[in-house]
Amino acid sequence: MDEQESVMNTKWTPSQLEAWDRTYSWHPFTHMRQYAATEPVIIQRGRGVRVQDVHGDWYYDGCSSIWLNIHGHAVPEIDQAIRNQLDRIAHATLLGQANVPATVLARRLIGVAPPGLRRVHLSDSGASAVEIAVKIAIQYWANLGRPDRKMIIGFHNNYHGDTLGAMAVAPNEIFHRPFLDLLPVNRRVSFPKCADRPLVRPDDRCDASLADELRHMLRREADRIAAVIVEPVEGAGGMVPAPPGFLRLLREVCDEHEVLLIVDEIATGFGHTGHMFACTPEDVTPDILCLGKGLTGGYLPVAATITTEQVFETFLGEVREGRTLYHGHSFAGNALGCAAALASMDLLDDLLPTLPGKINHLAAALKPLRGAPFIQEVRQRGFMIGIDLAADPHAGVQFDWTTLPGYIVAEHARRHGLLIRPIGTTVILMPAPAASNDELSEMVDRLVYAFDDAQDQLSALANEIMPS
Ligand SMILES: *Cc1c(COP(=O)(O)O)cnc(C)c1O
Repeated sequence: MDEQESVMNTKWTPSQLEAWDRTYSWHPFTHMRQYAATEPVIIQRGRGVRVQDVHGDWYYDGCSSIWLNIHGHAVPEIDQAIRNQLDRIAHATLLGQANVPATVLARRLIGVAPPGLRRVHLSDSGASAVEIAVKIAIQYWANLGRPDRKMIIGFHNNYHGDTLGAMAVAPNEIFHRPFLDLLPVNRRVSFPKCADRPLVRPDDRCDASLADELRHMLRREADRIAAVIVEPVEGAGGMVPAPPGFLRLLREVCDEHEVLLIVDEIATGFGHTGHMFACTPEDVTPDILCLGKGLTGGYLPVAATITTEQVFETFLGEVREGRTLYHGHSFAGNALGCAAALASMDLLDDLLPTLPGKINHLAAALKPLRGAPFIQEVRQRGFMIGIDLAADPHAGVQFDWTTLPGYIVAEHARRHGLLIRPIGTTVILMPAPAASNDELSEMVDRLVYAFDDAQDQLSALANEIMPS
């Protein structure tokens, strides 16, 4: 690390910042009482796949700043693209007009999106991209004179964002309890949990039961259903990949019943699964594709809802016909963000071919964790890794998630210079795809040390559940 890198923030002291954080901040998706009991991590800079806190300590960014980061932090090409754009204009609205980087980005996205997608609606967060997808799907049917088709079928444990519309397609007993009765009734079906084994058709049980449940629902209620929405890898559900072939099957089932298919690739897009999109290797074109997170390389808030010309055309007509999509966000298509997205996509051209080797390297590095104490399962799809903890993995005795066992591991990981953020009883590792093999090994090594150090505390938690 050169002299420059170790320069500390001098304007405010770490203790000042920590006091202000404790006094004034309310962190997203955070148990604030438990947070207050820990020493806050306040980041002041990033380089590559590492970030530095205000004390000058460096950590590996083991969750890619919550699944966003693709090429690392302070990437010269992306930084420069943002600076160049800043010299021209930071933001210009897309409402009734266009800006240069947003226009170029729309064309660029269509170049890499599954064939058949043609129209890009930009916004500024993943939840917005999902809201827009849901509204497009419902209004599509209204525009076709079928206003009864309003229901969106989702999958249990899929997650699509935290606004009311996104919650409504993925209601969750734990996260959304006070709001559940406010949400429109949308049905959900089971997400396939057949790990990484490909669907073998036609008599594979997972395949058959999945298709049956969905087909059954569509057969019964297709005339009330606007769309099916799915996450190719259940992210916030604990990094559970759908088996290969699943998206293809879903496409077929939706086609049979003329229901729209919305694929939420907000977490899976831009290399996180080893491909541009999870749809790519399956040759699936959804009717509506949602993108966010890694779209700008994880730099700035830009999201996109992409649809086919066929869907788009139903929104055309005389103003009085009321076909217009009345939806927009002030910062939709932010020019700085779109410039970052274009630079990130340039870098992806060279990055994508290197990913299969890194993914194999990561799989080999993870081997010591498989079968280790308190580890029930290690799942990996590309750079998305979920490690399920259990009080007794062999007997299938689960930890009580409210005792936050994952955070015990995360605290130890932090002491070993790795930042991770668990979900329930699942420890999540999601390195940036640009990490080198050495960096991937370093991250996994630190995670292994964290598990070693966490043994006594995990044993204590397990003993509370299974008094001997
Ligand atoms: C993160 C995420 C969202 C929500 O995106 P935000 O930008 O946080 O609003 C939606 N869907 C999936 C699959 C996600 O991972």
